[in-house]
Parts: sequence; C-alpha cells; structure tokens
Amino acid sequence: MAVLEHLTSQQAIDLENKYGAHNYHPLPVVLSRGEGVYVWDVEGKRYYDFLSAYSAVNQGHCHPKIVGAMLDQAKTLTLTSRAFYNDMLGRFEEYATSTFGFDKLLPMNTGAEAVETALKICRRWAYQKKGIPENQAQIIVCENNFHGRTTTIISFSNDPVARVDYGPYTQGFIKIEYDNLMALESALESNPHAAGFLVEPIQGEAGVYVPSEGYLKKAKALCEQYNVLFIADEVQTGIGRTGKMLAVDHEEVTPDILILGKALSGGAYPVSAVLANDEIMEVITPGSHGSTFGGNPIAAAVGMAALEVIKEEELAENAEELGKVFRDELNKFIPTCDLVVKVRGKGLLNAIVINDSEDSSTAWDICMALKENGLLAKPTHGNIIRFAPPLVMNHEQLLDCVSIIIKTLRNFNQ
Ligand SMILES: *Cc1c(COP(=O)(O)O)cnc(C)c1O
Repeated sequence: MAVLEHLTSQQAIDLENKYGAHNYHPLPVVLSRGEGVYVWDVEGKRYYDFLSAYSAVNQGHCHPKIVGAMLDQAKTLTLTSRAFYNDMLGRFEEYATSTFGFDKLLPMNTGAEAVETALKICRRWAYQKKGIPENQAQIIVCENNFHGRTTTIISFSNDPVARVDYGPYTQGFIKIEYDNLMALESALESNPHAAGFLVEPIQGEAGVYVPSEGYLKKAKALCEQYNVLFIADEVQTGIGRTGKMLAVDHEEVTPDILILGKALSGGAYPVSAVLANDEIMEVITPGSHGSTFGGNPIAAAVGMAALEVIKEEELAENAEELGKVFRDELNKFIPTCDLVVKVRGKGLLNAIVINDSEDSSTAWDICMALKENGLLAKPTHGNIIRFAPPLVMNHEQLLDCVSIIIKTLRNFNQ
C-alpha cells in the first residue's frame, strides 16, 4: 500500500474524516512532533500545548528518560501476559505503592479500565467484607462526573452526549450533587447498602470545578463513619498536576481506593493502576479480574520512569508555583475584559469561564484564535476553556503563554 511520505494538514484531516469513526471533534491542527512544552504541526508551526493530552503529558512531550526506559524495555521484553511473571512488574508495584502509601497495586492500561477495576473491587468488598446482600451494593457518584467511556461508566454519567442510546444501563449507582456534604450524608444515611463514594478531587472534564476547602476531608470522614469506601479518581488530577503528587494531598486525605492513569506514563504508553491496602485488595483473587496488557514490562518500566521524573524534576512544586502566577496574571486582566468571567483551578489545572452560554461556540472560537497565535487549548464546554500545560514549563514560558492568552482574548470579536 502506498503511504504518502509527507501529508499536509488538510490531507491528514481528510484521511481521518474519511476512514476514521467520528467519535471526536478535534481542533483542526495536525501535529507531527513534540518536545517538552511544545508541539509542531506538519507545516512546522510551533505551539505551546495547553491541553497536555488531558494531563497525560505532565512530564512534557517525549521526555528523554521516559522514552529511554520505554525503548530499552521494548528491545528486551514487551509482553508476557500475566500467565507468567516478568522481572519489571514487581519493581513498578513496589515503587508506586511506596510512592503513594498503599499496600498493593493492580495494573491496567487506560483510565476507564482502572475505574471499572475500582468499581469491581468496591462491589466485592461490599459483599465479602461489609456484608451487603448479593446484588444490592450501591456506589455513590457525583453529578457532572467524568470517569471514562465504558458501558458501566456512562451508565452513571449525566452527559446526554456520552449516554444517549447506549442503554440498557448498569444499575447500582446513586448520583448526588458535587461539593455538597449534606447530599453525601443523606445518601449515606438513607442507603444502608452504600459501598463506595467515587469522586474526582477536582472535576476536570466538567470544567475544572474545584470543590470547597475541606470538602474532600469531610467526605472521607463521612465515608469512614458509614463504613463506605472513599474512591478517588485521580486519573486527571494526580501525578503533580494540581501542585501536589495527588490532589487529595491538599487536604491530607488518604483514599481507600486510588485510581491513576494518564500521567502515570507521561503520555508515552497506556498505563493505569488502582491502589488499595490489603484488607480491600485481597478481595481480588486469581481469575476474578485481569487484562492481557495490564502490567506488561514496558508499562512497568515507563510507569516507574514517569514517577521518577515527577519527583526528580520537582514538577508538583513547579505546578503549584506556576499555577499561582497564571491565576494572578489572569485575575489582573479579567476586570479589564468583558469576555472572561473568571479563572479557577489548582496548580496547573485551570480554566477560564467565558461570558456566554454553555451551548455557545465562543470557547471553541477563542481556541481557534489561540491556535493561530501559537497556543493549543480545548473547550470543555461551550463557555469553558481548560488550560493545562505540561508541568515542565518554566516561568518565562508561562509568562509568554499568559501574554498570548491575554492578547488573544483582548483582540477577540464575539
Ligand atoms: C480521562 C479520565 C478518565 C478515563 O481515562 P481513559 O484513559 O480515557 O480511559 C477517567 N477519569 C478521569 C477523571 C479522567 O480525566
């Protein structure tokens, strides 16, 4: 088959449109190279990446240490399946459990698989440890959640686009308002079969909603009081993004079950994991859960390198510092501009809210203008734009980006 040596952006877009399922609506930019905080399109134009593949690329594009670990392992041993042991998985498990302070880790590939795994562990725990009658376990989730795209996960989504016509839906979920402790308490009180509370420490896809201070800590205390597992989905917020290794660290909360993905590989490879202590993880027995690729030697090598980079380069600390600068600079600008209502976020997970309706195309149009000015970001809704650059950004680059963003907003004509 003839493969074109070099595609123009339009050719690449046409190919995807013709031969690919239309399950995304990408910004019309075709990237062919990345390094650190930058990506380049096929015409050679350079952009700041302010999405970081939904926070998978916290360590920056093509980080040499991560890519090096991946290549070395790829030349040595790629996949054994878990039918046999391999000499990398145990090392990764030891490193990650000691990093995050849990007894055990269960390796998966994608975020959605890790969420599914956590739900299965929680249900088993409910029947085998808490004594909930068979098939009665309930898991409490939050409105406007995003936990992935499997049939079960979209069953408890309230995004109609993600849900519609995918029924029948999986039962066993109770939805409550996010950042509402009274709603959590009343759900716990009125549902003796509650087994878990699944929550994002910051709701990323919903538009970077940061809950009130103390919410996570008090929610964890309520879960303890009712003997319900506190399950933190840190797929997007974890691994340095919000200025701490985990977003729950801001409130010194230790989840009963921790879900990681995305930046656990620095974007080099699909790596996800579920962590818990023995009394919970021991409900998983041989044959009761698995994945052919989960825990493969490349993933293990990449996962270890990705976590090492976060620590060695102090990327969480950098995110904390630069995040403050970013919000301070935008907060100085916002009162001078009718277009933006506010900026919010933690560390380098931030969003601006545009002065327009949720179903407007204004955020999209602003992202198109940002693209022209050399910065790539994506709306989470019609009126919200997320700003989440790689955490390897330096101060000077951040100020350059702030000036691109401000200039774009100032010149934008609605
Ligand atoms: C991205 C994301 C997921 C799903 O991860 P995939 O790798 O896309 O399956 C789950 N939870 C949260 C909070 C996410 O941001």
